[in-house]
Amino acid sequence: MLETLGSMSEREAEDAIFDETVDAGDSFVREILEGQTIRIVDLKGNQAVDTLFYNAHNYADRYSAQDTIREQGNIYLTTGTRLISTERNVLMTITADTCGRHDTLGGACSAESNMVRYVLEKRHMHACRQSFLKGALAWSQKTGREFDKRDLTANINFFMNVPVTPDGGLSFEDGVSGAGKYVELRAEMDTLIVISNCPQLNNPCNGYDPTPVRILIWNHNHQAGKQQTGKQQTGKQEQHV
Ligand SMILES: [Zn+2]
Repeated sequence: MLETLGSMSEREAEDAIFDETVDAGDSFVREILEGQTIRIVDLKGNQAVDTLFYNAHNYADRYSAQDTIREQGNIYLTTGTRLISTERNVLMTITADTCGRHDTLGGACSAESNMVRYVLEKRHMHACRQSFLKGALAWSQKTGREFDKRDLTANINFFMNVPVTPDGGLSFEDGVSGAGKYVELRAEMDTLIVISNCPQLNNPCNGYDPTPVRILIWNHNHQAGKQQTGKQQTGKQEQHV
């Protein structure tokens, strides 16, 4: 098992402005305003929390796994990772992480991937792509903004373990997370997040048992003075690889 030190948060649950549990198979959509912090808690351990991120003012400007990986020079996400958008904005920064690493290579499960990875009969089982779509369409209806299937792109899988072998192989392994482990992200600009708390019943990653997560959100707190919030650019806009 991977040895991870992680980094703890000083935030207290009673100071949070939002505290809710999201069941496995449910979606969660919300704008996290600049300076706010969101914590996702893996309540039972080894749950996969598939998450999409968008510039709240322009959904075409969205999380880019490729730019994030290149900018930080690592494929695993953990404390200090800045989530970079397709327009090279820093959407959020991971500010605490007791799990140690998170995946952004594995993508989200879908009816199609269930058939390919498992068996044809799994086609009708609920998958993250459907939760994303359900969340996106509900948000679109609520806000009147255009947001649909074409907006569902690269995601992060919090708490999921997808190690890369020395020769570049990708494998889905037993999780490195555990009950009560969490990840915290600070919004560097107003960011829309769309979570699918993965309903997957066929993957040993979650012990074939998808479980709920807890979501907490804080406004600026006593740490705000130390934080360098505000719109940031990566400073590498000219770089087109
Ligand atoms: Zn999934």
